[in-house]
Amino acid sequence: MELQNITILGATGSIGESTLDVLARHRDRYRVFALAAHSSVETLLQQCLAHGPRYAVLVDESAADRLRAGLDSRGHRETEVLAGSAALELVAGHPEVDTVMAAIVGAAGMPSAMAAARAGKRLLLANKEALVMAGELFMAAVEDSGATLLPVDSEHNAIFQCMPVDDLGRPLPGAVSGLILTASGGPFRGRDEAFLRQVTPEQACAHPNWDMGRKISVDSATLMNKGLELAEACWLFAQPESAVEVVVHPQSIIHSLVRYADGSLLAQLGEPDMRTPIACCLAWPGRIEAGVRPLDLLSVAQLDFEAPDMQRFPCLRIARECIAAGGSAMAVCNAANEEAVAAFLNGGIGFCDIPATIEETLAAVPSVEPASLDEVEAVDREARATARQWMDRNRLSKGVSAV
Ligand code: NAD
Ligand code: MG
Repeated sequence: MELQNITILGATGSIGESTLDVLARHRDRYRVFALAAHSSVETLLQQCLAHGPRYAVLVDESAADRLRAGLDSRGHRETEVLAGSAALELVAGHPEVDTVMAAIVGAAGMPSAMAAARAGKRLLLANKEALVMAGELFMAAVEDSGATLLPVDSEHNAIFQCMPVDDLGRPLPGAVSGLILTASGGPFRGRDEAFLRQVTPEQACAHPNWDMGRKISVDSATLMNKGLELAEACWLFAQPESAVEVVVHPQSIIHSLVRYADGSLLAQLGEPDMRTPIACCLAWPGRIEAGVRPLDLLSVAQLDFEAPDMQRFPCLRIARECIAAGGSAMAVCNAANEEAVAAFLNGGIGFCDIPATIEETLAAVPSVEPASLDEVEAVDREARATARQWMDRNRLSKGVSAV
């Protein structure tokens, strides 16, 4: 079998490390071509020594210098170190690359994911912000280039697996009546507002079922993650916002479901371990071993479902409203959320200030219909500046918490 060349964008993160774990089990099928990250020199150094990629990219120039020196001092010559964000696009669209895992967190992951889409790659999409910010442009790029888009996010991967297709793998028109995204409810499910006002970044990042990066962990705690996933689902599966339900399922065993016209519900189940959807995308339409223990239904014993609490966790409602409004609303929502989450993680604002910051930003930044990636990025910059100003003003006048 010919080896598939793989680029991993966001190699040092949670998804990046899980991807390397799966790849290391199948060295006869996959070759690590490029590993890219922001500035984690030590982790990327170890990954280069273990996987020997052709390229290693660090966006931060001085971190790239340190990586180069570290590899030199160990006599490791096979990896060329590149610096700067343009290098991300280079290794995403490189002609020798077959498959790109797009797992950079946040809006920073959009240009390189887009480069892979435009280059017609087999694109394993973990980064959700690219679709959230620029879904229409992103899906058009995939269509134009003939790229193969495979969703890594566990909910979307579950839906992808449950979708009806004809013998040629094309979606069957009229077969699906809706989608159901499951949500764990995060670490603060059932908590009251007084509790939420006091929570710390450490509490927010301690997810009950999933081990993830800090930004997505906070998004899971506010339920914004489900809002971003709703937008992602609408673009990936061409559904209106009203056709996508969200159900809280605290065990995180059912990863999402598809409603069929005849009343059937198809679900995908598994351990909450991202190596399953990653392996699914790597091998699709084949299947490979992922290192994940088999799901034991008897020890799960029970599957619970409840409605999300939109009052206490307003982020899901805000995202729904933005998706229904269309235009740039979701890009504004995403940018304000990223700024607010970063401020929360730095101890600058309280947990309940996150939705407040997003709503204030949405009220201040007018929605437009962006026709290019440059226009999306302009909206993103304006929304970030507005969110930061609002947080600064409120911190000055009211102390730590604005709400
Ligand atoms: P993480 O924080 O663990 O890792 C982020 C990676 O992105 C790191 O390698 C980091 O170096 C890189 N990075 C950050 N900023 C960058 C920049 N400006 N330029 C280049 N690289 C940069 O995040 P994660 O949990 O692995 O999540 C990655 C993406 O996958 C996110 O978009 C997240 O929403 C999505 N996702 C994650 C999970 C999960 O279980 N972790 C599940 C579904 C979707
Ligand atoms: Mg998910």
